[in-house]
Amino acid sequence: MDRIYMDHAATTPLDERVLEDMMPFLKENFGNPSSAHFFGREVRKALEKAREKMASLLGATPEEIYFTSGGTEADNLAIIGSARALRNRGNHIITTSVEHHAVLDTCLALKEEGFEVTVLPVDQYGMVDPNDVREAIQENTILLSVMYANNEVGTIQPVEEIGKIARENNILFHIDAVQSVGNLPVNVEKLSVDLLALSAHKFYGPKGVGLLFIKEGTGINHLTHGGGQERGKRAGTENIPGIIGMAKAMELAYSELEEFVPRMEALRDRLIHGCLEMEEVKLNGHPSQRLPGNVNVSFEYIEGEALLLSLDFKGVAASSGSACSSGSMNPSHVLLAAGMSEQTARGAIRLSLGRHNSMEEVDYVLQVIKESVDKLRSMSSIYQGKGER
Ligand SMILES: *Cc1c(COP(=O)(O)O)cnc(C)c1O
Repeated sequence: MDRIYMDHAATTPLDERVLEDMMPFLKENFGNPSSAHFFGREVRKALEKAREKMASLLGATPEEIYFTSGGTEADNLAIIGSARALRNRGNHIITTSVEHHAVLDTCLALKEEGFEVTVLPVDQYGMVDPNDVREAIQENTILLSVMYANNEVGTIQPVEEIGKIARENNILFHIDAVQSVGNLPVNVEKLSVDLLALSAHKFYGPKGVGLLFIKEGTGINHLTHGGGQERGKRAGTENIPGIIGMAKAMELAYSELEEFVPRMEALRDRLIHGCLEMEEVKLNGHPSQRLPGNVNVSFEYIEGEALLLSLDFKGVAASSGSACSSGSMNPSHVLLAAGMSEQTARGAIRLSLGRHNSMEEVDYVLQVIKESVDKLRSMSSIYQGKGER
């Protein structure tokens, strides 16, 4: 069988239809949108059309959309930009222990500037309790940052409820929604959110482009100094082919959501059940409130890294969870936050499904996992000895 890709939470392949829309802007339409001549004007028109399209899909106005180099930059701009802007009102930020490093490390970096950061705990499924959010709010709280869905374990957070709490307390609410577009309905009105970060390469768009929704009236400081692009919020010539591609990718993600979700859920559930039929396996993340394509399981008595190597050797691409921690031997901060022992966390692997995966692939992958797990356990003295204790 050909190589199988089950790491869509890390990145997705570029959709052919997206590439097609991008091509003219990689070739003849090369103008700088800030140029006044017709090369520039043509591209400016396309840029603003893309902005309008994405704004309308998200339930925002075009003036509320700011393009960035991806999810990481959008998260940084949202958090640092708003924290600095609100410094005279307060210095307390609330986030959660299961955030992507783009959020968690950004909040922690702000500590050096004198900000106080509360990192909320999660339950065994990696879910935040809105009551904990409420209790963490102080007089000086200015910002709350919670992800929509977790990239490692797939748990979907109760962001609507959390958004209401933020609004009641007059605190800015930022959502890292990078894993959501294409998997969940994303509408900024419904989410009562002030700041929302997206990245195109997580929904079959190109890499190196993302956006930050900034609700009208939300004053945030810019981080890059230079030209006045993006209404002064993000200096630097816009990634035009990327933005054009992101607009097409988002349009497709929204129009195909209804077809995509049940198809992914069927693959996901088969994969989960197949894994759980093996011995000493645990499902990580929420049993029902989870991303349609996310499978994260821990196999006791083996190293997830060893299992991944074995899968890789057999042509199956999966992950240990966060791209940042792969290669290093540190267990996932998300699994540890969910109360898992280091030992069990080290036995975790993530399989994230996408558009091109099939039931045949799922069945093949299950067979490969079973063979690999059996082999690794046969070499594990702890596993061999466990019956004798
Ligand atoms: C991938 C990811 C990011 C980072 O996005 P980039 O565009 O790769 O910088 C941030 N948050 C989450 C939840 C992600 O999955």
